[in-house]
Amino acid sequence: MERNYGRAVFGPSGHDESFAAEGHSLTLEMPEWLKAKGLELFEYSFGRGVRLNGKTAEAIGAEADKYGIEMSVHAPYFINFASPEPEKAENSITYLTSSLKELRHFHGSRCVFHTGAQGTQTRKEAFDRAKFMFGKALEQISAEGLDDLIVCPETMGKGAQIGTVDEIIELCKMGDHVYPCVDFGHVNSLWQGALKTADDFQRIIDSMFDGLGEQKTKNMHVHFSKIQYGAKGEIRHLTFADTVYGPEFEPFAEVIVKNGLTPHILSESAGTQMLDAQTMKNMYEFAKAR
Ligand SMILES: [Zn+2]
Repeated sequence: MERNYGRAVFGPSGHDESFAAEGHSLTLEMPEWLKAKGLELFEYSFGRGVRLNGKTAEAIGAEADKYGIEMSVHAPYFINFASPEPEKAENSITYLTSSLKELRHFHGSRCVFHTGAQGTQTRKEAFDRAKFMFGKALEQISAEGLDDLIVCPETMGKGAQIGTVDEIIELCKMGDHVYPCVDFGHVNSLWQGALKTADDFQRIIDSMFDGLGEQKTKNMHVHFSKIQYGAKGEIRHLTFADTVYGPEFEPFAEVIVKNGLTPHILSESAGTQMLDAQTMKNMYEFAKAR
């Protein structure tokens, strides 16, 4: 059901500033606008809750089909599968399943989510709990007939959050339809700026190939933006105009081409998502042509 582009594809997460500057306000207008910009993807955020009626989502999905734009969704930020409070963990399952139902209305196939936070638990306690509750979420997803959709746990940018590269690989082993969402800005924040060369990116890709195999690695979901970080990790999202924090996209473009990857790459820049998605697409085309 997911479109097969046979190459890396790009798009923005959310409405960027140029969308409004060019006179648009409705997500319904987004697919046609993105098609004209030469992009393929749009990610709709339910970060602050799943508040969209199915009819509106269906209308957006129809436009996305018409213009060949692939929709994905970001589940609410309140999800915390590592919470020791049973009610919070149970609610997390509902946040994920309700995001998947909207994704279905959008005619999309991928849902990104944040696994949870360590809290006062040891890392092992928190991760074991997250795995257990995510397992229950996967059972519920199957029971509701939503397991043809792909769920993507995301690598996180703060030490206190569950979501190192290794943890995400572990979670992705729990189901055929669980794919990694690698947020390279988050990884770079957690690594205090150590994500620089093509070799640095290649190491992440190699551990994905080892742990998850070809299909999930080649078709991984990617968030790419420059992010300011401090000692505890991520502070805030920047734009590609930043020259201090990184990461840079060119070395990753090289790695995509070298490994024949076909990832879905979303820009989460602060206000310039569409433009930065275009920039990444150009860098990728350039790397391919070399
Ligand atoms: Zn995210």
